[in-house]
Amino acid sequence: MEKQHQSELVIFTDLDGTLLDRVTYSYNKAITSVKHLLQKEIPVIFCSSKTRAEQEVYRRELGFFHPFIVENGGAIFIPEGYFQFKFDYNRIQDGYQMIELGIAYSEIRRILEQIRSDVKVDFRGFGDMSDREVAADTGLDLEAARRAKEREYAETLKLEGTPDEVSRTLGAIKEAGLNYVFGGRYYSIMGPNDKGRATKILINLFQRKLGHLKTVGIGDSPNDLPMLLAVDIPVLVQGPEGGWEEADIPHLRRVEGIGPEAWARAVEEIILVHDI
Ligand SMILES: [Mg+2]
Repeated sequence: MEKQHQSELVIFTDLDGTLLDRVTYSYNKAITSVKHLLQKEIPVIFCSSKTRAEQEVYRRELGFFHPFIVENGGAIFIPEGYFQFKFDYNRIQDGYQMIELGIAYSEIRRILEQIRSDVKVDFRGFGDMSDREVAADTGLDLEAARRAKEREYAETLKLEGTPDEVSRTLGAIKEAGLNYVFGGRYYSIMGPNDKGRATKILINLFQRKLGHLKTVGIGDSPNDLPMLLAVDIPVLVQGPEGGWEEADIPHLRRVEGIGPEAWARAVEEIILVHDI
């Protein structure tokens, strides 16, 4: 049978709990599939709550030199010249064309400090913690913890306490005009950005670069749902409790397994179905 005209595949992926193991941050179980994607030159776009500094390490290690979305859609970093046409961006920094969608970290911190004294709940953000404390809390090594603290558009909040304290804090955050989303371990506190808005902007740019696209999104947590809504093939891997995040998304594929193992399974199935 003659092969149908192929659309170009572009994969958007979450990192923590998806391409990376939730506990060890290892991608080892996905490495064969990563190599398949590199061979087939399929762009893989990181779309994570991680910072630019953190994502740059995984870009180098895995060999994905594509645009990437940081801090829950706070900004899109596009290697200069990646898109060979004119498009809108905010500034150029360190060889990236940056599209900024979030608000400045310092402003978010200022608002959170006000909220802390108003609601009298002792929540803590990465900005309140030393490198060592972040390392102990996340399981990252000290260097990685330092990179996790290099935040530009979103604060990572450790919000524990009684249900009432949690809901009062989250209510105050909303009232102050900020957004929050749960990423599986921490809350991300940010401006009007989310993963979906950033994903849509990049899909548009990729359409101009590659023509007809088939877009894939792979995630595990509530903060991934806007990204999954923006793509043609949304994929959820299982969360730490074994089940899938509740989501009302058309054509959602729920893949058995957690983390990089499930990520690899999803990628292999999609490559197979698309015969590329
Ligand atoms: Mg995740």
